[in-house]
Amino acid sequence: MWKALHAIIWLAAIAGPLAEVEARVSRRQVRHRSPPHLGLDKYMSYEDIMQYLEQLSRVYSDRLELHDVGRTFEKRELRIAKISNGIEPSRKKVIFMDAALHAREWTTPITALYVIHQLVVESRENAYLLANTDWIILPLANPDGYEYSRNTNYWWRNTRTPNTNNCYGTNLNRNFGLGWGEGLPIFRDPCNENYAGTGPFSEVEARVVRDIMHKLVDEKVGFMYLSLHTANRSIFYPWVNEPSPIHNNHEHEEIAQYAAQKILWSTGTIIKPSQGYKYGGRIGGTSVDYAFYMGFPLSFVFEMSGMGKNGVEYRFYPPEQYIRPLVQESWIGIEAMVKKAIEKYPSSRPLHIPVNHKDAVNAAPSNRGFFGNIYEKFTSIFD
Ligand SMILES: [Zn+2]
Repeated sequence: MWKALHAIIWLAAIAGPLAEVEARVSRRQVRHRSPPHLGLDKYMSYEDIMQYLEQLSRVYSDRLELHDVGRTFEKRELRIAKISNGIEPSRKKVIFMDAALHAREWTTPITALYVIHQLVVESRENAYLLANTDWIILPLANPDGYEYSRNTNYWWRNTRTPNTNNCYGTNLNRNFGLGWGEGLPIFRDPCNENYAGTGPFSEVEARVVRDIMHKLVDEKVGFMYLSLHTANRSIFYPWVNEPSPIHNNHEHEEIAQYAAQKILWSTGTIIKPSQGYKYGGRIGGTSVDYAFYMGFPLSFVFEMSGMGKNGVEYRFYPPEQYIRPLVQESWIGIEAMVKKAIEKYPSSRPLHIPVNHKDAVNAAPSNRGFFGNIYEKFTSIFD
């Protein structure tokens, strides 16, 4: 009896100091990790991007998982990064971000890698972005087009699947299943850079993004979709294919305005928030409309700036010395959007906002019967 009591007192005496020692050791391990270098001073190839992700995941295997979720027409990997704070395996809401659906928008994949770096390596400063939120990031959504743009024709925007008339490629941001093909006649022209494809989700790249969205919405954790583009200096939100506002238009506007203010104060760049339709008229088949329609309560396109510090508008290909400031400016905007979004959606607020039926009907009158079919094709992408 006395022996047992003695043991309990002894355990209590050492448990506290031991826990402190363990915490110190784990803090030291975190500090001593050597992440791969992410240079923001040159554009990165598909190989560079894949290699960086692999190296980073080896060093931070507790925070970063990589999954290859599809292969392109030219057999390149579509690779996602799943990022968490590595502490609790509990069900958290998820932010889904993609970059470079449009091949020539070269600063977007490197910005996505910088976001991954901020979340994984600079995890102490950014702990609040992962406290109740996990992230899934597809940093290079159109690797075939991206490599073709880098090596052959830098204006290239689309995938590299062959079309009729000896023409190639589909515009991935016209290939989604909501309002597919609606808008302009050029969306049906297989030789135009706005070509929407042979049908909704004809492209594997769009199907991969779709399947991630479905998975997250089905699990009721899909929180915010964010697609990176250049170089309109805008933040767009749904609908793009419909003039009427979405039911939480005010929330989208507030989040976008907050990010635009942060960027203005930091760098002086003017970013214009807008409903997509109001900016560019009706465009069917966009990913931002599709995500919102499927059940993400928040859905944005961030059209990052392509302007150099010298005031010259370079659009898609800023000279390499301007990559760093543009990527860092974009991070300010992304962080601000997510900060405000997290504020508006505390854990107590249910994520799954039922889509306003009237909006949905207006948004997709010609595609109502289509959604049954895509669910049949849906296969799980996570193991
Ligand atoms: Zn774009």
